[in-house]
Amino acid sequence: MAKIVILGAGIAGHVAAAHLRRKLPKEHEVLVVSPNSNYQWIPSNIWVGIGRMKSEQILFPLPPLYKKKGIGYKQAKVTTFHPEGDAETPKPFVKVEYVTGDLKGQTEKVTYDYLINATGPKLAFDMTEGLNPGTNKAYSVCTYTHAEHAWQALNTLIQEMKQGKKSKILIGTGHAKSTCQGAAFEYILNVEKELRRHGVRDRAEITWIANEHQLGDFGMDGMLMSYGNNIMKSSEMVEMVFEDRGIKWIIGAGVNKIEDGVAHYETLDGEFHTETYDFAMLIPAFSGHGFKAYDKDNKDITDKLFRGFMIVDADYTPKPYEEWSVQDWPETYQNPTYKNIFAPGIAFAPPHAISRPRTSKNGTPISPAPPRTGMPSGITAKLVADNIIDMIKGKKDLHHKGSMGNMGAACIASAGYGMTQGSGVSITTFPIVPDYHKYPDTQGRKLGKTFGSIGLAGHWLKLALHYAFIYKAKMKPFWWLIPE
Ligand SMILES: Cc1cc2nc3c(=O)[nH]c(=O)nc-3n(C[C@H](O)[C@H](O)[C@H](O)COP(=O)(O)OP(=O)(O)OC[C@H]3O[C@@H](n4cnc5c(N)ncnc54)[C@H](O)[C@@H]3O)c2cc1C
Repeated sequence: MAKIVILGAGIAGHVAAAHLRRKLPKEHEVLVVSPNSNYQWIPSNIWVGIGRMKSEQILFPLPPLYKKKGIGYKQAKVTTFHPEGDAETPKPFVKVEYVTGDLKGQTEKVTYDYLINATGPKLAFDMTEGLNPGTNKAYSVCTYTHAEHAWQALNTLIQEMKQGKKSKILIGTGHAKSTCQGAAFEYILNVEKELRRHGVRDRAEITWIANEHQLGDFGMDGMLMSYGNNIMKSSEMVEMVFEDRGIKWIIGAGVNKIEDGVAHYETLDGEFHTETYDFAMLIPAFSGHGFKAYDKDNKDITDKLFRGFMIVDADYTPKPYEEWSVQDWPETYQNPTYKNIFAPGIAFAPPHAISRPRTSKNGTPISPAPPRTGMPSGITAKLVADNIIDMIKGKKDLHHKGSMGNMGAACIASAGYGMTQGSGVSITTFPIVPDYHKYPDTQGRKLGKTFGSIGLAGHWLKLALHYAFIYKAKMKPFWWLIPE
């Protein structure tokens, strides 16, 4: 009998738990440890942040589902890792701290045979002075509570605009190394559309601010894509979308300080500027959670497990941008030192960025960190689950592999809500990490599989994905037929 402990119940953790439970006989234990007892479909936070969905529509409680399916659950957060056990407990364990109820504050050693670290990112608002969702008129849509607060503030501003107020709206990245430009891009398009719906678009100046050196970089070094019968750069497509909607942009900008309605930033040309706003939504830097790890003698071995995020089978040798290759990216998400530990989704440490690193004239790094979107998070979680099942069955080699260098991603940015009035900007990329050897003439991507489109179909697709993925996450009949 094996015990598999999964840390985190986001896209990666929940997908891994669901597949393990479905495929493993009941004598094996599957246990999830996560501080939030709700599952949330994060991509739909965008619609919560414009008041078009209630958070109840994008979340559901996990404990009843886990009970029904035979998955154990502890509402707790992991604090330290002990992959060799210790003098008292010879088995590998993690120390967890309960976050609610009578047990709140109590810690417990949770032993395991296999460990899946799917704790995603720490939303590191503290890395930007003054950036704290709900203060200084700056908000976030990274969680459903953040998105609810963003909508309350935006709605208040819309009501004031209806009374004649002119306002400035700033949306983008809140740190020089932020990622998740796609989510901010989606939000700015939805906000713009909502202002039009409320008849106040002419009273608002909307500005995009981002650490990308070029529009449409998205932390993926931009892309060359098919667009109808044409070939287009992602920078041209985003520029066209912004120009059509009267959205201004500031790029190559590292936001470093937020004051009440003022964003301070440095640009790649080394200048320092400020931008005022009445409402801002700024994505913070994502970092590792700062976990510590100890060996059996209680010696600190954090550097064997973490370099910010968790160390996996990537090639972390430092090398210049020109020498980066798809082979640097992990395929099994297994920790090289402790082979029973895995980190799918955002929890794994990438070997390096995807976009070319850039620094300002003052030496400040200003360029996006690599995105790890929902689809790769689900795919990597499923392959980790399949490899663990093989290991339990006694297989030596890991057969299930998937690198972001041979995986695609679809970023379907809804650009307005409504069955007939909605719109979507869809960008599909293959592969996520450009492969310049395989596709030397098309900037490392396969044309046809890397394409952009704009229109109502994109909105329908995004809405269909919302319902399909919540159905799948609820493990309703035949949920496993819906791909990650
Ligand atoms: C606003 C927004 C919109 C997005 N839109 C899209 C989109 O349209 N398409 C797309 O593909 N991707 C999208 N993404 C990205 C997508 O949401 C992420 O790729 C995905 O959530 C990553 O999954 P994950 O499981 O690795 O991390 P998460 O979903 O962040 O899950 C991490 C889990 O770990 C738990 N946890 C945290 N700390 C601890 C701890 N100490 N102990 C135990 N558990 C812990 C958390 O509570 C959570 O359950 C969007 C992201 C945002 C923010």
